[in-house]
Amino acid sequence: MIYSIVAIGDPVLKTKAKNIAADLPAAELKQLIADMYETMYSASGVGLAAPQVGKAVRLFVMDSGPMVDLDEEDLAELEEGEVPEPAVKRAFINPQMVSETGEEWGFEEGCLSIPGVRELVTRHADIVLRYEDENRQVHEEAFSGMAARVIQHEYDHLEGILFTDKLSGFKKQLLKGKLARISKGDVRHEYRMKFVGDGRRR
Ligand SMILES: [Zn+2]
Repeated sequence: MIYSIVAIGDPVLKTKAKNIAADLPAAELKQLIADMYETMYSASGVGLAAPQVGKAVRLFVMDSGPMVDLDEEDLAELEEGEVPEPAVKRAFINPQMVSETGEEWGFEEGCLSIPGVRELVTRHADIVLRYEDENRQVHEEAFSGMAARVIQHEYDHLEGILFTDKLSGFKKQLLKGKLARISKGDVRHEYRMKFVGDGRRR
């Protein structure tokens, strides 16, 4: 099932998400994860957090493939001995950030909840994350590169933080009107979305 993606302005995106209970039936969890992957791929996203489908629980899915897969031209440009970053496809349940280290680097991020907006966001290069996989096995794992960035972005969603919250006061001021229009549904989007005013207007 493909969910509608919640747009910026919905309080669920500002809520700190709650842990998923250990006794949640496995079938229910697997269905939610499958639906989140389906929703993410249908919107051509590389990551999707549960609050973005209206559920304030600590779960996100990602597939960094589209960000790290190289075409022939990219491959030709690799330095000798340089290893391309492998794609990470994973569901993360009840994640906890253990550490964020390494040099900070900037990248123009976007978000399925904020269509049409891309801004430079600075994040640490390396992270260690503790999480449960879809079989509820606990892992503590290090990530770097694009995978670390996608995880940091999705993890922020579980803390009620959007990438636009991380911009400078000046940038935020410049974007204010645009974000307000997006929250009202005044934006082009190529996938199903839910806006805060939806119920009231129709
Ligand atoms: Zn996002």
